[in-house]
Amino acid sequence: MLDMPAIRDDLKTVYDLAPNPELAASMQAEYARMSRVVSPVDWAIHAPYVAAINALKRERNAAILAHNYMTPEIFHGIADVVGDSLQLAVEATRTEADVIVQCGVHFMAETSKILNPSKTVLMPDMAAGCSLAESITPEGIAQMRARYPGAPVVSYVNTTAAVKAASDICCTSSNAVQIIRALDAETIIMTPDQYLAQNVAAQVPEKRIVWWEGSCIVHEQYTAQDIRDFRDWNPGTRIIAHPECPPDVVAEADFSGSTKGILDYVSAERPQRAMLVTECSMASNISDAHPEVEFIGPCNMCPYMKKITLEKVLWSLHTMTTQIEVEAEIAEKARLAVQRMIDLSAAKA
Ligand code: SF4
Repeated sequence: MLDMPAIRDDLKTVYDLAPNPELAASMQAEYARMSRVVSPVDWAIHAPYVAAINALKRERNAAILAHNYMTPEIFHGIADVVGDSLQLAVEATRTEADVIVQCGVHFMAETSKILNPSKTVLMPDMAAGCSLAESITPEGIAQMRARYPGAPVVSYVNTTAAVKAASDICCTSSNAVQIIRALDAETIIMTPDQYLAQNVAAQVPEKRIVWWEGSCIVHEQYTAQDIRDFRDWNPGTRIIAHPECPPDVVAEADFSGSTKGILDYVSAERPQRAMLVTECSMASNISDAHPEVEFIGPCNMCPYMKKITLEKVLWSLHTMTTQIEVEAEIAEKARLAVQRMIDLSAAKA
């Protein structure tokens, strides 16, 4: 576990990180991208970190990859690439930076390392895990293979490198339907997200999909009754759900898609009011690009994603820790599963 008081003391000896309204005022270009959701007072607190990280990033030739669930000051202030798991995985193969800082959760950093074995991949807080990734092991994959002999295993990218290595191909929430349709098999094992599997099964009825019983602690909290109540109280609101939600929640929504799918839908439809049934930062991060849309309604926070902060990113780049390592044999097998997904997504795009 990171010793934050000690880290703060160390950082203070090198950087001036006190709230700085003058510096904040001079960084209006950065602030403009988040001004709907970050107050000027908070920006004066964030600006010294954003300035220090961006300077250090240039010095280290580093690229920051940030998931859509990062807080706005990370997403808009320091990220070089933002997106969903698939976009970040693809971008990890293209970056010319020597160092990748993963603003997301641990499995994403592993994926970046698997795809870039020669680069340094930094994880600002190793405790940023994922309930899905923690729900399955290679032994679980072996159990499923024993139960359904011959069935290919499609593992969500929200898995450890060892689980990816034990799988035939990966998928993300944006390409899962496409991957399942493309596989030449009647029965397909999907791990570890039972709800993503059930939502995909509803769209691909010609295949028999069997699943592991994992779930996302953020999306499993929503219920169909919540959605019905919200619609009754807020008529006309467009309800948009992530496919990690239970199927009866997805059935109540107007649209379901990955975080990229959600962004594309909002951009195309421009609803007057929208409720995003997903992690809280998603609406915050897209609201500045869509001032015409009022984002309302409850959201659930991912405690893992929220472990990544500006302070930890600065510490990570400053000390070049924690570096992600994946055992060579596992990395090679996992890379094949991820690369098959990337190739198949690109072929059908
Ligand atoms: S939102 Fe859910 S799936 Fe994503 S990192 Fe958090 S726990 Fe894992």
